[in-house]
Amino acid sequence: MTEARLTLAEVMRQAGRSQITADQNWDSGASPTFREMFDNLKFSPEDGRIWFGDQRMMLLHAAAYGALRQELIAALGLEKTRELLMRMGHVAGTRDATIVRDRWSHGTSGDVASIFFNAGARLHGLEGLVKVLPGQFTLNADRESYRGTFTWHGSVEAAEHVAAFGLSTIPVCWMLVGYANGYASSINGTEMLYKEIECTAMGAPCCRCVGRPAKDWAEGEPQVRFYSVAELVPRGSRQTDNASNTASGPGPQMVIGVSPAFRAARDKLEKVAGIDATVLLEGESGVGKEMFTATLHAISPRANGPFIAVNCAAIPDTLIESELFGVERGAFTGATVSRPGRFERASGGTLFLDEISSMSLIAQGKLLRAVQEGVIERVGGVQPIKVDVRLVAATNVDLRKEVDAGRFRQDLYFRLNVFPITLPPLRERRDDIPLLMQHFLERYSAKYGRKVDMFTTQAVNALLRYDYPGNVRELQNIIERAVISAGTDGVVDVQHLFPPGKIPPDIPYLMDSSGVFRESENSGEPAGNGNGANGLIARALDAGLSIRQWDEQLCREALARARGNVAKAARMLGLSRAQLNYRLRQLDDT
Ligand SMILES: [Zn+2]
Repeated sequence: MTEARLTLAEVMRQAGRSQITADQNWDSGASPTFREMFDNLKFSPEDGRIWFGDQRMMLLHAAAYGALRQELIAALGLEKTRELLMRMGHVAGTRDATIVRDRWSHGTSGDVASIFFNAGARLHGLEGLVKVLPGQFTLNADRESYRGTFTWHGSVEAAEHVAAFGLSTIPVCWMLVGYANGYASSINGTEMLYKEIECTAMGAPCCRCVGRPAKDWAEGEPQVRFYSVAELVPRGSRQTDNASNTASGPGPQMVIGVSPAFRAARDKLEKVAGIDATVLLEGESGVGKEMFTATLHAISPRANGPFIAVNCAAIPDTLIESELFGVERGAFTGATVSRPGRFERASGGTLFLDEISSMSLIAQGKLLRAVQEGVIERVGGVQPIKVDVRLVAATNVDLRKEVDAGRFRQDLYFRLNVFPITLPPLRERRDDIPLLMQHFLERYSAKYGRKVDMFTTQAVNALLRYDYPGNVRELQNIIERAVISAGTDGVVDVQHLFPPGKIPPDIPYLMDSSGVFRESENSGEPAGNGNGANGLIARALDAGLSIRQWDEQLCREALARARGNVAKAARMLGLSRAQLNYRLRQLDDT
């Protein structure tokens, strides 16, 4: 077994951290760079959301975290608080590992070292918690044997602890340790444990942290093991723990979501599943009424019976009665054989009637009898037939209004409206979009036998931004089309999602990778005509000006205006004299 021993310098170079300054380090080092990570950070203030990849984030005041931490310690004591915060960090680390695996393990498989050092360390920095510098690092090719040391600089947790309690006698960066555990374990696929051995909260110049596989630690060290391997997200799994909670159950026919609006509907569904009450589903087209009903059926005691779905609007008026209730031979010309309707076929199971309002008044009368008495009569028949059906009716119009307009029977409305559940449109459950994106991507990749397993940042932007008038069904169609049209690299880009000209506007005030808030293309002036920085940038881009040319022209122009006075030119550019001199020398050298 060959052992990849990296020297500190190699690791530092790989991590692009030999010189930690914002501008020099922004694009350097192995992927993912800070810029690549930053490109996945999306501020969507008009929507009340911040996204990192497909994870919803929030900006939290360090002082607010400090206050919570202080109260936890006062209420629960140090040990319990440490445990809670480690668990919290563990969740964050695991989530970040999921993002890294999904977005950057592409083509770098086997290069666990760079994933470890670049991504984990940089993410912790990007999220504003701490600056991480790697120390020693050893990893066996089998990933079984690992030793890693880190130093942490400027830990927000240590700072808040000292602010609240003064210097500590024990290390206090509990959330950071939990993060390291969760991140490394998830990336590596085996349980890793870190221990903080020195901490700035103890007066040390920086925090120092040692990590090993859990099995390599001596008994009782680190003292507390909070996590079992079973809790870890296995390598290659993309499902978040929330998703597996809600997606669990028999097969892929289950509704998925984590948003509060979705959960409210799902809770109601679970409540009513065990009893035989008629359910009325209300909601716009495409919100997934049939899928909700299939889920209801699957978790109900009738799960082993048939599930029959009928879209009433899709059946002509003249046929709806015979479709639902069946036909007796000789009932009308052409009825040469008797056949059962959907009610009889659904007996012992669940009957789903979609777009119930489009039913004729005569059919409504028959339906009322079926619901009230549990009997139906075939068209042309005289014998009542007993049916044992759990009825779920659905509508995308307001049935109450249909009653007022005389188009829907009031008595039937009251019979159906026993247990109404309103299904939210997708725009009111936006937190579910990432989950659904991934779900449909996996489903259609499998269906079409294509290895499509990733979205570009632009594609994610567009999907998170889009309004989905056609709801989940529209998202589903978009992803299906994308899987079919994506290239052989297995990556879905924005042109695979939307036809040209139909690409939704970008997130307004999206922060771009240089850290500048810009307005969406659709909200400003046409490119190239704008004034100020935006127009200037647009013109530079239109002119095909590279950053290097831009840099050079800017420096030369400043120097010209300053009549050769380097110090003056430097002030115009916000640089020091030495910095401008350095740039000018570089430009002259090439
Ligand atoms: Zn510390």
